[in-house]
Amino acid sequence: MSITSFNPPVRTLMGPGPSDVHPRVTGAMARPCIGHLDPAFVGMMDEVKTMLQYAYQTKNQLTIPVSAPGSAGMETTFQNLLEHGDKAIIAQNGVFGGRMKEVAERCGATAIMVEDDWGKPVDPQKIEDACKAHPDAKLVAFVHAETSTGARSDAETICKIAHDHDMLTLVDAVTSIGGSELRVDDWGIDAIYSGTQKCLSCTPGISPVSFSERAIEVITSRKSRVQSWFLDTNLVMGYWGANAKRAYHHTAPVNALYALHESLVMLQDEGIENSWARHKKNHLVLRAGLEAMGLSFIVDEEHRLSQLNAVTIPEGIDEAVVRSRLLNDFNLEIGAGLGALAGKVWRIGLMGHSSRAENIFLCIAALEAVMSDMGADINTGVALSAAQNAMK
Ligand SMILES: *Cc1c(COP(=O)(O)O)cnc(C)c1O
Repeated sequence: MSITSFNPPVRTLMGPGPSDVHPRVTGAMARPCIGHLDPAFVGMMDEVKTMLQYAYQTKNQLTIPVSAPGSAGMETTFQNLLEHGDKAIIAQNGVFGGRMKEVAERCGATAIMVEDDWGKPVDPQKIEDACKAHPDAKLVAFVHAETSTGARSDAETICKIAHDHDMLTLVDAVTSIGGSELRVDDWGIDAIYSGTQKCLSCTPGISPVSFSERAIEVITSRKSRVQSWFLDTNLVMGYWGANAKRAYHHTAPVNALYALHESLVMLQDEGIENSWARHKKNHLVLRAGLEAMGLSFIVDEEHRLSQLNAVTIPEGIDEAVVRSRLLNDFNLEIGAGLGALAGKVWRIGLMGHSSRAENIFLCIAALEAVMSDMGADINTGVALSAAQNAMK
């Protein structure tokens, strides 16, 4: 065997996640590993919980990081809230609503699907109709920021409808946290999960979740045990809970939590509203450049996410060749279309530390260079100045 150390190339990450990790975060990860029951570590855990409450704009006590990626947060929320025989109304307008169905059904629940076209937001009227048609449903679940299409749904309105029908609300905020306005308490979100690798400028592998009092009542009065031992919040709380004995449940990913802590300190220092505003402003700069080049967005302006820009591909261009040239010649990663949009769009992420001017200008210049070399029908020589104007 002659395998040597792995040294990854240095890339600029402008896909659907992971996004660029801030050097302060990778620096924090390299700090010494200590025991997950060490008093010094336990103090840091409390700070992580407090800062996650800020990131979610919630006072929920049960706001903790699950030791696994966003998909585990999805499993945690569904598995704790749903029991065999329950009904869940689930909105699907892209890839991730489909995953929610998978997960809900594996909990033994029936999924009532409410579908919208890919690229469109969830239609609140359809949610209202589904609540009326299925008054016995336990919860309404939807994706706030659909990363597969770049569409943002109106979480506040959907939650209000669900509560008017006395149902719980379960929200996927993997791509929204830190990047789009998100107010768990004001909007009445009962269960929410997100990820660290999108708009928090952190490494992948942790999923912050939060549950309202109302959701906790449902969890503590379950008739059956949560099917997953690892994700059962009743057990996890022995380690993470307020006034808990910090009893061993599983070994926390110590260094990954240093990373999350650092990224949340950065969010707190920037200010959450400023972070949302930065994502929006940078989106407008990228948009000016891409539109000047002749690319167009697939989501209506009103429902567009700042952090995920899904744009059309010029006629006759092999999109996979463009992406591989960006990667090989410019160390730049952008995302391909998923599912129904595969081969039809690029997904350009401006998430977290990736949402900054130097990334935008690299992306516009590199896309133009590669596409004009391939003979694409685009406008050349105008995109960078359009972006520059949008910065003013
Ligand atoms: C990325 C993503 C997920 C999955 O997160 P992982 O960390 O990849 O498990 C779920 N939902 C949405 C909307 C996402 O963007």
